[in-house]
Amino acid sequence: METKISSDQELSDQELIECFVPMKANIKAKPEPIRVKVNGIEIGGHEVIIIAGPCAVESMQQLVETAVSVRKSSAKILRGGAFKPRSSPYSFQGLGEEGLKMLREISNKTGLPVVTEVMDTRQVEIVCRYADMLQVGSRNMQNYPLLKEVGMTRKPVLLKRGMMATIEEFLLAAEYILSQGNEQVVLCERGIRTFETSTRNTLDLSAVPMLKHMSHLPVIVDPSHGTGLRWMVPAMARAAVAAGADGLIMEVHYKPEEALCDGHQSLNLPEFAQLMTDLKKVAEAVGRSI
Ligand code: PEP
Ligand code: MN
Repeated sequence: METKISSDQELSDQELIECFVPMKANIKAKPEPIRVKVNGIEIGGHEVIIIAGPCAVESMQQLVETAVSVRKSSAKILRGGAFKPRSSPYSFQGLGEEGLKMLREISNKTGLPVVTEVMDTRQVEIVCRYADMLQVGSRNMQNYPLLKEVGMTRKPVLLKRGMMATIEEFLLAAEYILSQGNEQVVLCERGIRTFETSTRNTLDLSAVPMLKHMSHLPVIVDPSHGTGLRWMVPAMARAAVAAGADGLIMEVHYKPEEALCDGHQSLNLPEFAQLMTDLKKVAEAVGRSI
């Protein structure tokens, strides 16, 4: 499954898929690309699914204002972290269960399913109680016990690419979840670390056609973490849809300048509304809809 090949070896498409792509994540494992169902919303179909919301859940007011507005702009799923993987232990760590309760309440009020991060095997049960979809973050892409644990649930999983993971490692991480019987996995390209420092990460949009070429799993893109720059998010979001992404996950905040986490890369509500108008045109141009 993990056969290594040397770079000067010429491989046909077929051989590439056989060498690199693990069994269950392999495009050949299913007759056609699968659709992942998140409480009534399907990712991987004709429609490009937009997931939007704050980096972190901060308050009811923040969530309500953001959720109502992004829903009006045609977002289909609400995001928001209750357990936050912060680089510094002194930064805001999230509201924990209180944040999960808020997410559930807003979801019930607005009808938007919610996705939120689970960082630890010990949190899987509680996050499952409140969330419609589990997010495994970039920093945990190779946390194999966590991958197995979410694989044992029957909740859809949003798996983010590790910031230093190859496509092969990314697919092997998905394989861990699939191997436990959970087939509802969405892959998310969120930027990788390169020598470039002008952006927070280098958004690898070539991962979109590559992953879709190799696997039957839906692929979405996170241009917020992929760039780290609010002004650059719209351009990369449009590019991701043009490249064939099945969805986008974007950070949106009703007052980005006051956000406790990632405000500099969060769109405000009018910026998001404008972007959605533009994305609808791009989606249509590539035979999709939003
Ligand atoms: C997030 O979605 O807020 C997040 C922390 O993402 P990543 O794991 O991609 O850094
Ligand atoms: Mn964030």
